[in-house]
Amino acid sequence: MQAMPGPRLVLINPWIYDFAAYDLWAKPLGLLYLAAILRENGFTIDFIDCLATRHPEISKGLKGERSKRRKFGTGNFLRTPIPKPAGLKDVPKTYSRYGITPEEFRAGLKAIERPAAVLVTSLMTYWYPGVFEAIRLAKEIFPGVPVILGGIYATLCTDHAQEHSGADFVLSGPGEETVWPLLKDITGCAPAFIPKAQTLDDHPYPAFNLPGGSDYVCLLTSRGCPFRCAYCASHKLAPLFTQRAPEAVLREIYYWYHKYHIQDFTFYDDALLINKKVHIWPILEEVIREKLPVRFHTPNALHIREIDDYTAYLLFRAGFKTIRFGFETANMARHRDMDGKICEGDLMQAIKYLRQAGFEAKEIGVYILSGLPGQEWREVAYSIDYVKAAGGMPYLAEYSPIPGSPLWPKAVETARFPIAADPIYQNNSLFPCAGDFSWETVQRIKMQVRAARGLSC
Ligand code: SF4
Repeated sequence: MQAMPGPRLVLINPWIYDFAAYDLWAKPLGLLYLAAILRENGFTIDFIDCLATRHPEISKGLKGERSKRRKFGTGNFLRTPIPKPAGLKDVPKTYSRYGITPEEFRAGLKAIERPAAVLVTSLMTYWYPGVFEAIRLAKEIFPGVPVILGGIYATLCTDHAQEHSGADFVLSGPGEETVWPLLKDITGCAPAFIPKAQTLDDHPYPAFNLPGGSDYVCLLTSRGCPFRCAYCASHKLAPLFTQRAPEAVLREIYYWYHKYHIQDFTFYDDALLINKKVHIWPILEEVIREKLPVRFHTPNALHIREIDDYTAYLLFRAGFKTIRFGFETANMARHRDMDGKICEGDLMQAIKYLRQAGFEAKEIGVYILSGLPGQEWREVAYSIDYVKAAGGMPYLAEYSPIPGSPLWPKAVETARFPIAADPIYQNNSLFPCAGDFSWETVQRIKMQVRAARGLSC
């Protein structure tokens, strides 16, 4: 006899509403983990991904210059200019919705049987207008069905989300820990299997195999970060630093490669290289030994100080194609104050090892933080030149003030906008806390970065 399908849940990855967005292996990994755990517990899952790029509606929209899908699964989202939120009318940039059209979203929901609940995730705090719109439309299509909001915005700005999102329930913290009592109340079903939040090894693999699929898979080999950089809220989202067993990570890589022919893997870790001898080294050694034809990408920064000659060799031989390092600034006094993760000479040393291993200069991306509270632009300009002279490719990482980070009080004090009252002003495109701010200076710095990377201005 066939088992009855369990209660139906709709999971939604909402739109990005912003001045700029690019698909750099952007997947809602937390939601996909939750989807897998819910499936293990017998729930029937439907998934609406507003950022899908394989959707027929999206292929239709991606014409001309917007149609560019780039290497290894990255590319453009469908972009639709929309009115700016009140308060951002003076920003001289186009505000857009990134992702599928609302009509497609509605059609997707209408094709689904009425669910027991709708679960919506959220990422950057200032993308909340896209979250609100997804909630509003879900309630329009499924009146009376409870909507549960979780994710990063819901965790960092819980009060704002409770007051304004329209969700019936707002969850703070990892969904796989907090969602169960609610789901039990709503569906009457108690979960048989709840993995421990910190031990990713007993989680099922994230549901990259939901309809629509993915050309690549995002891997999480650890949770949290042992550092406490003042500008980061990693510890708020994952208070403990834990790592998976290397053999479990390898099993996951083999699973996706053999069963779904996935060749591009993106590490979502905050601290991939920490404890490298017992963590990333054995993983990469086996990938090399088995001659697995895979490619790895690290859009999240790697720690520069962890690069030595053997680690650089492993990264190159195992097939790392996109590497980024968190350098942040050439101002060493700021490192002493804010993160303690870089010393004079570390960048040059790491780049030397990477070049010796076989990486070209253009493959070594180095993030530079810009727009820190009170930071002067000449520090950013100097850091760009410093990275270029060291033999790396500078990438600007615009600072976004994050509630709960150690730097947050100073950010609130220095910001040109009321960032504590409304997360819309936490948008990094606004450089809300930059010291000597002007749009002309932002433009000049961006041109300097492009020139340093050998791109046309
Ligand atoms: S910025 Fe990077 S290294 Fe620093 S705490 Fe955050 S994740 Fe860790």
